[in-house]
Amino acid sequence: MKKTCIVLWIAALFLVACSEQKPSGIATIERQQVHGDGTATSLYSGDAVDYDTYFTSERLRLDFVLAGDKDHQQVYLSELHREAKWAGSPNGLIDPFGYGQYFFEAFVGEKLVYSKGFSTLFEEWRTTEQATQVAMAANQTLWMPFPKEKIHIVLYQRIRNTGMLEPFFDCDVDPADRHIIPGAENDFAVVPLLNNGDMAHKVDLVFSGEGYTAEQMPKLHQDAERFMDYFFSMEPYCSRKDDFNVWLVESVSEESGVDIPQSGQWRRTVCNSGFDTFYEDRYLTIMDQRKVASVYSGAPFDALFIIANETKYGGGGIYCSYAMGTSDHQLSNEVFIHEFGHSFAGLADEYYYGSTYLDYYPSNVEPWEPNITTRVDFASKWEDMVEEGLPIPTPNEEEYMGHVGLFEGGGYMTKGCYRPYYDCRMQTNTAPGFCPVCQRAINRMIDFYVK
Ligand SMILES: [Zn+2]
Repeated sequence: MKKTCIVLWIAALFLVACSEQKPSGIATIERQQVHGDGTATSLYSGDAVDYDTYFTSERLRLDFVLAGDKDHQQVYLSELHREAKWAGSPNGLIDPFGYGQYFFEAFVGEKLVYSKGFSTLFEEWRTTEQATQVAMAANQTLWMPFPKEKIHIVLYQRIRNTGMLEPFFDCDVDPADRHIIPGAENDFAVVPLLNNGDMAHKVDLVFSGEGYTAEQMPKLHQDAERFMDYFFSMEPYCSRKDDFNVWLVESVSEESGVDIPQSGQWRRTVCNSGFDTFYEDRYLTIMDQRKVASVYSGAPFDALFIIANETKYGGGGIYCSYAMGTSDHQLSNEVFIHEFGHSFAGLADEYYYGSTYLDYYPSNVEPWEPNITTRVDFASKWEDMVEEGLPIPTPNEEEYMGHVGLFEGGGYMTKGCYRPYYDCRMQTNTAPGFCPVCQRAINRMIDFYVK
């Protein structure tokens, strides 16, 4: 661990949405090492990485354990796996977004060859009341292309009250290590639902089933097809359909349904998912993310969604980790598209009620999510999209519906956190669609996976 320095990531969003030369317009990151005397040295400015020089066509999976409480967090490596084909773009090895509660880097010598931001359910738990009372642990998984030579891995956690990323774990991984476990952990079939071509230049969205028995595989297919049709009926996914492949992992559970502890319902399922996460009725998640990794161990993917065979309303989505929702509630489609927004594009909730996450976003820190702001660094968000002449902040009144502005209320907070639009799918299930700011963020993520 490097204790003498902190590493500060500055996500400088060069907003080039209007530029025809560079329509992809994704954020760029400069990483700075901040020294004790306050001076900073730029470490990384975006050198290209040649995929074939550093990686095989396979995927490296790192299983580790996060442990701690509200104030402390530690990480322990557990297992390494060599898995299915890497589905990501060979040109998308360095994360340009800087999203997530964590950041992960892999080096060959001094050269950064891979990076990725992500979030975890464990980090969310650390903000709950329970984390002030007890320390807990949870499994987490990371994926990256399988290296050809020894790599050095550094894991960063984002410090809540500063927004900075600090290194808190590092280790070497030797691809020749004979303890790296090869192959899939199951024999679930992976079947295509939409094939638009080479997975290296498509977003490979992969569904799986949770709480579907072997006899219920036809239902899983129907549910996945229905979600897929809904997905491509909404912008920006509708216009970008050609950029996607869609697959289904036919994951089988012993029993039908999922755990609903508040009703005394317990089921033996492949991911051991359950409602009542953090004692919230509708929050359906999987505490042990390694079970998700295991289900997907034979499937190449860029983004995944777990369909839970249940009628109850609920779901959850965690950036670059997983998203899930139930199959048979009347709002299941809406939950799916919302939760996938979290996991795929790093979108924040734009709603602002409830008490579990009171003051979730500190007022002195610009949130990393692209669709909310504390106005600490609004220029890095959607300031360029705010319509001229609109009052700032924009009153929460219907006459401002349909305009990109700066509406107070978002990120679970009624005050001090702002959203871009009167209504959006990241706020309600009744909004006509994603707001223009969320759509831009989704488009940028698609661009990253297909370039
Ligand atoms: Zn939005």
